[in-house]
Amino acid sequence: SNAPTSPPRDTPMLRQFFEFKEQVPDCILFFRMGDFYEMFFEDAAVASKVLSIALTSRDKNHPDPIPMCGVPYRAVDSYLAKMIEEGYKVAVCDQVEDPKLAKGLVKREITRVVSPGMFIDPNHLPPREHRYLAALYFARESLGLACLDLASGEFLATTLLPGPALADELARLEPAELVLAETQAAHPGLGDLGARGASLPRSLVAGRPPTPAQARQSLEGRLPEEEDEAIDPALIAAALAWSAVLSTQRTSPEHIERLGLYQVASHLVLDAAAQRNLELFRSIAGGGRKGSLLHAVDQTATPMGGRLLKQWLAFPLRSLEAIEARHQAVEEFVNDPLLLDSLRASLNELPDLPRLVGRASLGQATPRDLAALREALLALPGLRSMLEPLQSALVASRLEQMSGLGGLAQRLYESLAPSPPVNLAEGGVIAAEVSPELDELRQLKGAGKDWIAALQAELRVSTGITSLKVGFNKVFGYYIEVTRAHLEKVPESFIRKQTLANAERFITPELKEKEAAVLGAEEKALELEKLLFEELRAAVAAEGHRLVAAARAVAEVDVLAGLARLALSRDYTRPRMIPAGELSISAGRHPVVEQMLKEGEFVPNDVHLDDESQQVLIITGPNMAGKSTILRQVALICLLAQAGSFVPAAQAQLPLLDRVFTRVGAMDDLAGGRSTFMVEMTETSHILAQATPRSLVILDEVGRGTSTFDGLSLAWAVAEHLHDLDGVGVKTLFATHYHELTELAATHVRAKNFNVAVKQYQGSIVFLRRLAPGGVSRSYGLAVARLAGLPEPVLERARQILERLEQGSRQEPAPPSPPAVGGQLALFGGEGHPVLKKLAELDLSRLTPLQALNLLSEMQDEL
Ligand code: ADP
Repeated sequence: SNAPTSPPRDTPMLRQFFEFKEQVPDCILFFRMGDFYEMFFEDAAVASKVLSIALTSRDKNHPDPIPMCGVPYRAVDSYLAKMIEEGYKVAVCDQVEDPKLAKGLVKREITRVVSPGMFIDPNHLPPREHRYLAALYFARESLGLACLDLASGEFLATTLLPGPALADELARLEPAELVLAETQAAHPGLGDLGARGASLPRSLVAGRPPTPAQARQSLEGRLPEEEDEAIDPALIAAALAWSAVLSTQRTSPEHIERLGLYQVASHLVLDAAAQRNLELFRSIAGGGRKGSLLHAVDQTATPMGGRLLKQWLAFPLRSLEAIEARHQAVEEFVNDPLLLDSLRASLNELPDLPRLVGRASLGQATPRDLAALREALLALPGLRSMLEPLQSALVASRLEQMSGLGGLAQRLYESLAPSPPVNLAEGGVIAAEVSPELDELRQLKGAGKDWIAALQAELRVSTGITSLKVGFNKVFGYYIEVTRAHLEKVPESFIRKQTLANAERFITPELKEKEAAVLGAEEKALELEKLLFEELRAAVAAEGHRLVAAARAVAEVDVLAGLARLALSRDYTRPRMIPAGELSISAGRHPVVEQMLKEGEFVPNDVHLDDESQQVLIITGPNMAGKSTILRQVALICLLAQAGSFVPAAQAQLPLLDRVFTRVGAMDDLAGGRSTFMVEMTETSHILAQATPRSLVILDEVGRGTSTFDGLSLAWAVAEHLHDLDGVGVKTLFATHYHELTELAATHVRAKNFNVAVKQYQGSIVFLRRLAPGGVSRSYGLAVARLAGLPEPVLERARQILERLEQGSRQEPAPPSPPAVGGQLALFGGEGHPVLKKLAELDLSRLTPLQALNLLSEMQDEL
């Protein structure tokens, strides 16, 4: 809590401060004082650190001064953004009356509360990312998860089973804040949040979670069209998110869509590991968007299109019909590149529609925002007529959502000035002929200004003072300035107002009269413009639902057109989708690696998987040969296809997958505090427990994290398990450096050996990047080491050791340089250790990640 430890000095200002602080105990309070927002006590300590500003104190002479820091009010938005990015919530407390007119203490009010999940500042929000507020509700046997994007109006919810599903959903939605009911703030189910979820800032909704009936009532108007009992937890979570929004926003967010309920099972499931390993949204190396699948395939023209594409990739479909509908639309665009180009040219002109509507409905849209909205609405009919000739049912259904906004477009066109300023206070926002009163005020002001402008010339003639000037400043208003040299020519009627070093300033009653007229008219005009603008903004907000639907339709067209552009520019083809059966890719490429190489450098590969004789592919080959690339490219091609995209291949036939599992590379999850081997085994057991015959499993070097014998036996057992899964097996690509594993193919009918071919050439190797049938018998490790520039004596010594090892005498060769023994083996302390026995007896297929962790910890204790 932020409350000070000793009772504060009792001043009226501090009393007011504490009153507000009490209303928002979990927020940093930005307290407006003059031109600054000040923070006090604990808030000041936190904010000064986060914002890198000086920590000072109020009443320095007091024995126990109050810590304080402040930021200028003009720059408050960027300071707010910084607090938000660090995970803090901030309440902004403003002065709501003119301090000059205030009797006693200035009246203040909390005018906004911003938090990481409810932040809509267009200047500080990444355009192509959703910013979700997530809410969780734990029911007895399931849990509800809702996500709301306040900036763009999107609202989703689902019901999940307890366990890893929660962490997987959080990984794909990437919310910025978590809302819980107060009574569930320490629910044991929170243990399933996963690393990402556990570090989310949390907000509590007071009291118990709502009942299903209360949830329905509070979501009135936003309930999904079809609903049944089974979705109660989702609804309750949605109601929690909704009430968190209502309690912080001062206006009702009209733009929030009807709740979209989804089921995890109707999408291709991508768990957190698959998302990370396949680098869907972030590269593993840099952690940024660059190098990710999304980055490689995003050719959308608008920010809302970019956000939707990300969602399509995060939620690939499992319905053949829905996938085909997307493919068909993409195909039509591909077949008409001229239409595609002109469509994209108009899309390029569009602003971020959903966020504009969001700002309008939250009362934060600027005049320029509404002007942008106007241009977009005026462009919609043109967009529609471009799309009308298309056959695609998907596109046709979206056309309807883009209509019905002509009235609003007309109103904005007539009411808003052609190019209004950003700032309402500048005036000139409302067009002429909207309000006769406004026109009259403007005329009055104009006439007054004309009179004053003419005055200078007139006075110069009448007084004979050629350097006489008429000027204006904020303190004295309009004045007449005469330099010292000409003072004796000043007429009696001038009234002296101010003396400067070299001049005197005067006024006349007439001038002041005109001034009053001008300033009065200006002030009244501004007031009136403000009123009219707010009406306009309200008219936009009232159409919030329809606007968001139209924006969504535009986004969808943009994504389809972007995918078509991608297909054309990168030579992707439409895959043939089948409900189940053979997966066959000819000349497939890796969508990301391909783009990183020069044209023509990427070597395409064929991959064929069926459920009879070629279901589990054991792929061997030296390091750097291209095994991982092939593995990932198969997964990415399937995923792209089910998201609705064409694929990087000459031809592809793809069965619908229910899940893609990956276990790729041996990377230490240092942040998570787990060793390589632990991560590997956790992910592997996750796969074994959940894979179905409809899944695709990608295993890269499983077992590498431990000693050779452990690793090999684990890898072997895992491969066998997948081969025999449910008696029919599961499509699996298994890259391994254990050549022994190739023996599996001899005894298992559905397993086949492949290798990524390399050629020996003058003691070195050439990577061919070709996937070829058969295993490789020897390791090219030494050749790769030579390529990498290892000194010749070291290579020579390694060759000796290798020879001895291959002869079967697996003893340590003589010093000076014994071969590296797996560090982990040494750790286990040799043969016969009880821990080893335990490990050998584990049934990996029955182990949950948590159980595995516990077991490992037990084993560690025994060492
Ligand atoms: P491995 O898993 O066998 O160690 P990788 O799949 O990581 O090898 O590939 C190593 C590098 O080789 C990649 O980073 C890429 O630059 C290049 N590469 C892989 N596959 C191909 C290919 N088909 N065509 C061209 N270059 C490739």
